[in-house]
Amino acid sequence: MAVLKNIIKRFQKDKFPFQFVYSDSYCLGDLKNHVFPVEKYRLVYEKLLAIGAEKKNFIEPFVPAEKDLLRVHSSKYIKKIKSGRLSSSELMALELPFSKQAMNFFFLTAGGTIRASEAALRDGLCVHIGGGFHHAFSDHGEGFCVLNDVAIALEKMMAEKKIKKAMVVDCDVHQGNGTAAILKEKKNVFTFSIHQMDIYPAEKASSSLDVGLWSGDGDDEYLAALSLHIPRIYEQHQPDLIYYLAGADPYQKDKLGDLNLTQKGLEQRDQLVIEQAQKRGYPLVILFAGGYALDVRDVVSIHLNTIMEARKNHKRWRKKGVLGILK
Ligand SMILES: [Zn+2]
Repeated sequence: MAVLKNIIKRFQKDKFPFQFVYSDSYCLGDLKNHVFPVEKYRLVYEKLLAIGAEKKNFIEPFVPAEKDLLRVHSSKYIKKIKSGRLSSSELMALELPFSKQAMNFFFLTAGGTIRASEAALRDGLCVHIGGGFHHAFSDHGEGFCVLNDVAIALEKMMAEKKIKKAMVVDCDVHQGNGTAAILKEKKNVFTFSIHQMDIYPAEKASSSLDVGLWSGDGDDEYLAALSLHIPRIYEQHQPDLIYYLAGADPYQKDKLGDLNLTQKGLEQRDQLVIEQAQKRGYPLVILFAGGYALDVRDVVSIHLNTIMEARKNHKRWRKKGVLGILK
């Protein structure tokens, strides 16, 4: 009986042998008809519970300390956000209604990516059901992004000497301009962005490596470019931690992007980025970033596919002793 119980326990533990970061406070108030489908976070969370994730699989985010924010953002900008005194042009660049709840969301999200980094360093992988706000710059926000959670978490991991080298693999359809600009001079950080050229941001920043695609490019062009670069940059840089922005917006039915990727193509993208990292034993933080499909269920299913790909790979490489085990 005890043996059976142990087998069942082990099976249950194996359902998701890594953790997720999520909060019920991942909402932005009433966005009315805004294109940002903030409900995707809750929908993915509920789906994960329905397919076997347990409460213990989830970690709560927190509001980071001021000093964690100030490694990345100017104190003037943080003061402005906290006091709610953004100018009308700053609000226009943000393209998001400003509210106390929205600001709380962005602070929590930054803490969520910090938590996800710690968990990934422990378990080899963590999925943040949120994050990836890559258009936030040091002194201003843009394109739905207030705080750059990836840069904040990465800088904290480095400052605390938990990692020496890091990499950002940004596969959102929009270029990771804020992240590239913030981390441009940072030693031992490699930023990679694969994105569509002829959409926002009009002015691209310089990542360590940028791959620009054009509207109409589909699975073949995308996957050929990705498979050309990913294994090579992993080998060359050998990061202690990778931040993977698994944006759902290169999808063919996205309202903001015009890349023509199918869900199958996006799954192959996930497989490439995740497998190549996990087989080398590189810890991975997966972040949702964008996704604006006509039907929110498509966005949810793309994010869930990423998680399933992560689970498959994590199990495989953990079994081979390459990755850590959930305590
Ligand atoms: Zn995007």
